[in-house]
This record gives sequence, C-alpha cells and structure tokens, in this order.
Amino acid sequence: MWWLLFILVLLLLAFEVPRARLRYALSQAFPLPYSKILRKNLPEYSKMPTDLQMQLKRRIRQFLFQKTFVGCGGLIITDEIKVTIAGRACMLLLNRSSEVYPKLTHVLVYPSAFVAPRTQMLNGGVVTHTNQGLSGESWSDGRVILAWDQVIHHPGDSSHGQDVVMHEFAHQLDSESGSTNGAPVLPDAEAYRRWSQVMEVEYTKLLHAIEHHHATVIDPYGATNPAEFFAVTTEAFFKKSTELAVYHPALYEQLRSYYQVEPRDWS
Ligand SMILES: [Zn+2]
Repeated sequence: MWWLLFILVLLLLAFEVPRARLRYALSQAFPLPYSKILRKNLPEYSKMPTDLQMQLKRRIRQFLFQKTFVGCGGLIITDEIKVTIAGRACMLLLNRSSEVYPKLTHVLVYPSAFVAPRTQMLNGGVVTHTNQGLSGESWSDGRVILAWDQVIHHPGDSSHGQDVVMHEFAHQLDSESGSTNGAPVLPDAEAYRRWSQVMEVEYTKLLHAIEHHHATVIDPYGATNPAEFFAVTTEAFFKKSTELAVYHPALYEQLRSYYQVEPRDWS
C-alpha cells in the first residue's frame, strides 16, 4: 500500500504547493511603483471606489503570478508593460467570481504592430497568403498577443473608445465557453436566451447603420461577426459608457449585468 500513499502525497503536493505559493503572492503588499503605473496608464483607476481598486490589485497580483510575459521583436518586458496589461485585462473581472483567465498562459508583446501570416480560402478553392499588421490577437490555446504602442495609445482619452487589451481579453472570456462565438459563459439557459436576443437585435442595428452610412457609437469593426461584436461592445461599455447607455440601453444593461460594474461611475 506504500505506493498508494506515495501517489496521494504526490497529488497533494501537485495541488497544494501552487495554491500555497499563490496565497503567499496574494498576501504581499501591492508595490507602490505598481500603483503609480495604474494611476498613469489606467485613468479609470483613480476614480474607482476603494473596494474595486483593492479587487483590481488582487486580480493583477494573481495575473502576474500565473501568466508569463514574453517580449517579442526585441521588446524588453518591464513592470510598466506587465502591470498596464494585467490592469486593463483584470478590469473585465471585477465583482465577478470567475477565475483569472484560466486558459491563458502567455502574453506576447511586440513593440508595435506585428505581422501575422494569414491564409484565406477563396471561391474555387484558391488559397491566398497575406501579411497583416495587427495590434492584438487572442488565441484559444492560451496566448494573447499585443502591440505595446497600441496598448498605451490614448490611455486617458475615453472618447477614443478603443482598448486593444480589453478587446483581446473579451475574446478570452468568449472562448471560455468552448467556442469563440460572441457568447461568454453565462449562468443558465434563460441568460443565454436573453443574451442572444439582445445581441442579435443590436448586431442587426449596427449592420443597418453601416449600410446607411450612419455614425455609430459601436466600432463598425464589430459588424465582422458576433465574436468581434462582443469584443468591441466590451470596449464601448468600459470606454464610452455614457454614450452606449444613451443610444443602446438594452445592450448596455446586458453588458452591465454580465460585467457586474457600472463604468459610468468612474468615466
Ligand atoms: Zn477581435
């Protein structure tokens, strides 16, 4: 029976040691230089209530403990890069009981727009290869790729309404449901029914507005497909909350119910 005991000890170590290390990391004080980075690069942070600031700092600590940052294209990873990206990503997790992006293992950061080879199948089976300059990408295999100059682009300008980190991490939330289709993990069938009802109506409205050349609060890129619609409406929810609530109240309420925060309080 000694081998059974041996396996039990191994299992205990495998589960308990990482948890103990995480508990220790979370028990440490949040470094003052990190708080300065948040004040500089997350304009919302200074206006948020204290309990949300505390939650955010705890989530950031967990993110930094569990995820590996990789500098690409010659970029050296600094505390500013790590804390800024973790901070923006963890804004999507406040007041929610979810894990900190459980599938994500690596954040790859390029200094500026990076080139990703693309293969497209055209009509008649012709395959073309293109190179596209990208500011961010989210993969369901545990990677997010970001261009640093796009992350810090207009950090304090909420009217700009775009946030590449929130965009890519909304895709991560979307993929946690098993497929990246514009619907994240929701509590029950009724929540999914309500979600698809609101999103379909709003998606159709966006297509109609683009077709008729009307100005839109929602980035027209959201018309690409439902997954992109969820990502750009997440950006609008956090970065253009007042306009979104006025012009798309049902959509705003749906996202407020999912994200469990009220960004108008700190806009
Ligand atoms: Zn996207």
